[in-house]
Amino acid sequence: MTRRKIVAGNWKMNGSVESVVELVESIQANDAVEVVVAPSYVYLPLVAQSLTGSKVMVAAQNVSEFAKGAFTGEVSLSMLKDFSVSHVILGHSERRSLFAETDVQVARKVASTLEAGLTPILCVGETLEQREAGTTLTVCNSQVDAVLEEIGVELFEKVVIAYEPVWAIGTGKSASSEQAQEVHKGIRDNIAKRSSKVAEKVAILYGGSVKASNSAELFAQADIDGALIGGASLDATEFNSIIESAK
Ligand code: PGA
Repeated sequence: MTRRKIVAGNWKMNGSVESVVELVESIQANDAVEVVVAPSYVYLPLVAQSLTGSKVMVAAQNVSEFAKGAFTGEVSLSMLKDFSVSHVILGHSERRSLFAETDVQVARKVASTLEAGLTPILCVGETLEQREAGTTLTVCNSQVDAVLEEIGVELFEKVVIAYEPVWAIGTGKSASSEQAQEVHKGIRDNIAKRSSKVAEKVAILYGGSVKASNSAELFAQADIDGALIGGASLDATEFNSIIESAK
């Protein structure tokens, strides 16, 4: 089956009022590819407003696992919905490693994101040590299984997975297209054990040092349905070339 490609830019903790508006106005979307950008929380209203009438969608980089109340510094799903946010990046390796987010928390956030009608982009991936120990698929599939157990396989077709090897994030050292394809297929096969129909539908993006120079080769792989891009998404020329290569 053909899954529509998704190209998502994770801007992380970068940008200013001036630079985010300039960046967002330079993005060239097309009908063949779903394009999503994830600014910092504080720029969400500005970016959403700048994208009025555009096909480019807006993602948050995280969300609170709680609905409302005394949770200083947290942002809820209903707040995101107020600003036309359609996607939420969850379980990014920086959240898991620097902010100690657990599989259980990530799974709960995926569940409430779906309940709110938004699309979760669930990040999974192994560290270099885990790859060298030969446990890449065990690690990725256990991160996916934690969510499958929380929400059930039927709902899982609405989840977008981003396979992001931790050693490839921000290092300039992308996984090769063969390495990435192998893991994407392993993740899809694991979902297929519960439902082959859902496994066929789920979009699995690759993330980790994606650039205009390696995106086409990655996108040519059977189980790679797009990319989650950090550094290169801050450069409009690079990001537009990646979008173009996903057509
Ligand atoms: P990178 O980041 O493209 O800068 O490697 C990817 C990510 O963290 O999502």
